[in-house]
Amino acid sequence: MALRMSEGKKCAAALTFDVDGLIIWLGMMGIGSGGFLSRGEFGPRVGVPRILDLLDEFGVKATFFSPGHTARTFPDIIGECARRGHEVAAHSMYHLPHEVGDRTPLEEKRRYLVEQSDAVERATGARPRGFRSSGEWMSDEVPNLLLEMGFVYDSSFMGDDFSPYRLRVGDRVERGEPYTVEFGRESALLEFPWQWDMDDFPHFEFISYYLNPKRPWYAASPLSSYKKVKEVWEATFGYMYRRVPGGLFHLVMHPQCIGKGQRMVLLEEMLQLLTSKSDVWIAPLIDLARSWED
Ligand SMILES: [Zn+2]
Repeated sequence: MALRMSEGKKCAAALTFDVDGLIIWLGMMGIGSGGFLSRGEFGPRVGVPRILDLLDEFGVKATFFSPGHTARTFPDIIGECARRGHEVAAHSMYHLPHEVGDRTPLEEKRRYLVEQSDAVERATGARPRGFRSSGEWMSDEVPNLLLEMGFVYDSSFMGDDFSPYRLRVGDRVERGEPYTVEFGRESALLEFPWQWDMDDFPHFEFISYYLNPKRPWYAASPLSSYKKVKEVWEATFGYMYRRVPGGLFHLVMHPQCIGKGQRMVLLEEMLQLLTSKSDVWIAPLIDLARSWED
């Protein structure tokens, strides 16, 4: 099981951008006041055009994950990502924690997934083939629903750092004694795992002062220097490049976060690093998925 590398390439890199827009605040954070919404609006309105121009400068194609709500609110911007040759994939409908989680009835999950795909298709003219859930919530029924709807890959799990894998369905996990675990079977859905330290949001985003520490999204708001994050991302890339032939270096970024000042310098310097290696294949996730061999 591996990515089939193009001629002369020894590993791959994918730049992914979650265009959460207003709905991460309205949905997941449950905050609807103007200041927060303006922060969300920054992503599609200011961040995405800057990112698109920078990607063009480097001749790199990426994947933009759009919630249905963002595609509906900013159809021209999400459409522009597709027109500039990037992949636009789906990122839930309303960025709600349990939208496709265990507590939502099956039919409601199906409705959310169809609604998000319809919204993305209206903006881009194409049905999304990749999915990323909001946060880490995703119930066992979702891979089959995604396959039913023609999705090719998912990117919501963390079971590896550099190697994609076929997503398992039908695991049985007992939450109490004797804690029996039975693994299910592999599905046809390819998983592109991600990791929190490869995500810009927890490194940079200021979210704690108004949040109750008892709430799930309370965090330390580190507001890191881009140099610190660059150290983390570069070291991770370096390890993969030296030790994991055929691996995938996978960055998860958010235009409302990476699209600002010093953080754009980080993105530019990462693009310089990745494009300086002629044996690194930089591609949208859908291209990597189509190169997968079992
Ligand atoms: Zn998101």
